[in-house]
Amino acid sequence: APPVLEIASLSVDYGVGEGAVRALHDVDLTLRRGEVLGLAGESGSGKSTLAYAVTRLLSPPGVITGGDVRYHPREGAPVDVLAMTPQQLRAFRWQEISIVFQGAMNSLNPVHTVRTQLTDVLKAHRPQTSRAERVERARELLSLVGISPDRLSAYPHQLSGGMRQRVMIAMALALEPEIVIMDEPTTALDVVMQRQILRQLVRLREELGFSVVFITHDISLLIEFSDRIAIMYGGRIVEQAGAAEIYRDPRHPYSDGLLHSFPALRGPRRELTGIPGSPPDLKAMPSGCAFHPRCPKAFDPCDRRVPHLAPVGTDTDRSVACWLNDDRRSGEA
Ligand code: ATP
Ligand code: SF4
Ligand code: MG
Repeated sequence: APPVLEIASLSVDYGVGEGAVRALHDVDLTLRRGEVLGLAGESGSGKSTLAYAVTRLLSPPGVITGGDVRYHPREGAPVDVLAMTPQQLRAFRWQEISIVFQGAMNSLNPVHTVRTQLTDVLKAHRPQTSRAERVERARELLSLVGISPDRLSAYPHQLSGGMRQRVMIAMALALEPEIVIMDEPTTALDVVMQRQILRQLVRLREELGFSVVFITHDISLLIEFSDRIAIMYGGRIVEQAGAAEIYRDPRHPYSDGLLHSFPALRGPRRELTGIPGSPPDLKAMPSGCAFHPRCPKAFDPCDRRVPHLAPVGTDTDRSVACWLNDDRRSGEA
């Protein structure tokens, strides 16, 4: 499928000057039309930073220091997202791309009913619609996410966490965007609920044809529901490939470690060994491959040279940033 969002060499710092830390390093990632792309990685790997940066929601001290983000609308020329004016951004968000943040279920307004919150989004972006049309659309949206339309008059506290999260998804879908980003926190929702939500998103994607970026630390969920997976470590993408390929044959030792950190939802059971050690501190990034202090396979070039994302063999759809998979290691030091 053709690309809908192309991210190239995207870098983000928190802070400027001396105290700045680099949270994203030269991230290259393409989202294709209609696909579910899973983004995995431990806490602090930069998943949310990437989501904020591509939607231009990054706020100080976060700064985009380089790179390119290009949105491909269904019709017309590609758009440079990093060059959009505030006015263009208002139309871009919700209508073309929408994002459901970590803990979003707590960002519903407690004093307004579900009806008011859904119809407000519609009113803000489709002011020409009548109130009756908006209420009708709000009912439709609720049923789309599997909530009975009688719950329109409910207040957020009258709904379970899972329902509130689904109301947020309904809001995100209200204007039929091309891309929905769902940023799940490492801790907030339990896996059973994440699984239900992901299943629902995948079903809706089939019905409505949007693309999904689903962010979680739990790679087993992504293996089950996504088409492709990108894995982040220390602000870099370290491997990207089809979900089945990553599951069958992870090429990056970190991907392998992640796969052994969560119980497999299907297929042969793996031994859960986890990954010893902890994620790197941005202020003291290890030299060379940031994973080297934890990597069971680290060898000569690893603590000296940074491996870059490169295609693996003849598979144009798969790339890995690891010296084990990179013939260039035999090149200059
Ligand atoms: P989680 O799974 O916990 O949500 P994440 O992969 O989404 O983690 P980010 O929130 O993107 O990680 O954070 C990436 C790095 O940037 C972390 O090291 C974090 O400490 C740092 N960071 C995030 N926000 C800020 C900020 N406002 N100021 C300074 N550093 C920040
Ligand atoms: Fe391990 Fe070296 Fe590959 Fe990094 S580059 S993941 S340290 S083998
Ligand atoms: Mg996050």
